[in-house]
Amino acid sequence: MDENSTQIVRRYFKEYYFRHGTQIKSPSDIGSREFGYLPFGAMMVRHLSFKDIGALRAMLVREVPAGAYCSNSLYVDPTAEMHLKGWKKAELIFDIDADALKQPCKKVHDIWLCKSCGRKEFGLRPDICRSCKSNRLLELPWACPMCLDAAKKETFRLLDFLEFDLGIAPVETKVYFSGNAGYHINVEKSAYETLDTHGRAEIADYLSGRGLTPSIFASQRLLPTDPGWRGRLARYIRDLPEDDQTFNSGSQFENRLSELANEFSKKQIESFMNRFLSENAVRIDSMVTTDVHRIFRMPETLNNKTGLVKRECGNNLAEFDPLSEAVALKDEEQKAQVFVDMCPKIELGGRSYGPFKSETLELPLYIGVYIASKGAGKFVSGKGEEIAAQTKGLGNQ
Ligand SMILES: [Zn+2]
Ligand SMILES: [Zn+2]
Repeated sequence: MDENSTQIVRRYFKEYYFRHGTQIKSPSDIGSREFGYLPFGAMMVRHLSFKDIGALRAMLVREVPAGAYCSNSLYVDPTAEMHLKGWKKAELIFDIDADALKQPCKKVHDIWLCKSCGRKEFGLRPDICRSCKSNRLLELPWACPMCLDAAKKETFRLLDFLEFDLGIAPVETKVYFSGNAGYHINVEKSAYETLDTHGRAEIADYLSGRGLTPSIFASQRLLPTDPGWRGRLARYIRDLPEDDQTFNSGSQFENRLSELANEFSKKQIESFMNRFLSENAVRIDSMVTTDVHRIFRMPETLNNKTGLVKRECGNNLAEFDPLSEAVALKDEEQKAQVFVDMCPKIELGGRSYGPFKSETLELPLYIGVYIASKGAGKFVSGKGEEIAAQTKGLGNQ
């Protein structure tokens, strides 16, 4: 981001923390957690500790970082070097990223950029640049309401596994919109807290259905009431519609099982399993679940990739609308001049804007912050002071 835009985005962040910082709640056992923050235009600062949430909120207003992070792990000494921290336990964490779900709308709203000749176009990244044939191409993904709906659906799928396969009480599970393109799911208390990386990898593998092989049809009888994947598979077979093309033997569950075990070729079984997994497994970022030394963006703080809030979805995930509820400062009157290099249609705050290409426009400040944070445009130079002056009474930082 250019200097002028950084200054405006930073002021926007400052105003948010000044007005809404009290919404940031203390994580449990705050003294045992590692904190970190990412200053604008500088490297991450880690291995910090805060004795209470007031001290952390004060830091946010004072430093106005681009990102604020907290560990899901608890340590004896969170400020020590990683191998000396004394790891005690960690909450289970899951990350669902809309981009990884590869929705068909990606070819409408994603942008690719050739690092060799600078060509930039809407659409999925080709193998080589259409102008200069270079393969140094950058993907710039966007997340539209359809992408985020898919991520929410995946989240519901995960919640079902957590409750029924892993035995985690729903009251211990919190879902957050990441502030960008997905959801973070955090299990506060569970029997899995003391699991190491390998144990967590097994959970990630289980959710993705890794290791589930077609031999399941040959070896044992499946029942819809079976626990875990066996029951899921049985219910899937049972509940496929009567006219489903997979089976010749009709809609009877018993007949379908027998057909699978005795008549399907190896190839047919494999393709059936792939279809079952694509409709039932959970697509999480397993690196996030297995790494117990990470720090995560704190709930109710701002995401520097969008200027949106990482927000808890509350008790009604189905009704939660990330693109309106995660807007940090929804003031339609506060406008800014923005040069937009290239961006697809944006739906934010209950309205839609664009698509835009090489245009200078007057937009609500929060839309400008979103566009600048996504790297799709910048605030028009010279307007910085004027906009800064609109953010009332916040000093001249
Ligand atoms: Zn090129
Ligand atoms: Zn989309």
